[in-house]
Amino acid sequence: MNSGRWILLPRALLKPQQLPCPDPGLPGGEAYLPKMAKLYFYYSAMNAGKTTTLLQSSYNYRERGMNTLVLKPCIDDRHGARIHSRIGLEMAAENFTPEQNLLELADSRVAEQLLHCVLVDEAQFLTQAQVFQLSEVVDQRKIPVLAYGLRTDFQGELFEGSRHLLAWADELCEIKTICHCGSKATMVVRLDEQGNPARAGAQVQIGGNDSYVSMCRRHFKESLYGE
Ligand SMILES: [Zn+2]
Repeated sequence: MNSGRWILLPRALLKPQQLPCPDPGLPGGEAYLPKMAKLYFYYSAMNAGKTTTLLQSSYNYRERGMNTLVLKPCIDDRHGARIHSRIGLEMAAENFTPEQNLLELADSRVAEQLLHCVLVDEAQFLTQAQVFQLSEVVDQRKIPVLAYGLRTDFQGELFEGSRHLLAWADELCEIKTICHCGSKATMVVRLDEQGNPARAGAQVQIGGNDSYVSMCRRHFKESLYGE
């Protein structure tokens, strides 16, 4: 995915200030230039590998000597300021609150060092204002933003962050997973402590003993409304 964001230009076409820094000094008189920065929304149901994909993307940048800012909302404080994926990968991240201005946060990091990419975990919990601020990171600062999150909650309703990312992102990318029946799972079912599907309750319920499973729409409807 990372390689798709770079284009190869003959060095002769570049003005000096356009040369990347540090100059990769590739053979053949060519240099890499980033294409237009974009706002990406990677969405899926539960347990599709969103966080694993985020960590891999951040690693790809850092492996090439580039700096990433990895953000996660405070609403999910299960692991403090670290991001954990189900397959055991983890990385330090910065928490942010719903009130925090993410453009200002990115700017404060840019003041310390060049920033090549911003990655956001649990992006469904972004506010409308924060999705706008992330679009400003792309449009004003020319830094790509990769947001990863759930599309809908356990009642099939869009989250606030997902609603505005679906509306404003340049690229929508679905991370696929499957239902127990083998069909693509697009919906999330919340199970209570007895393993029964929850039909009502708060959209965000972290720290309880509920669990979530991904299902296709047909099985989601069956578990929510019965046959
Ligand atoms: Zn199914």
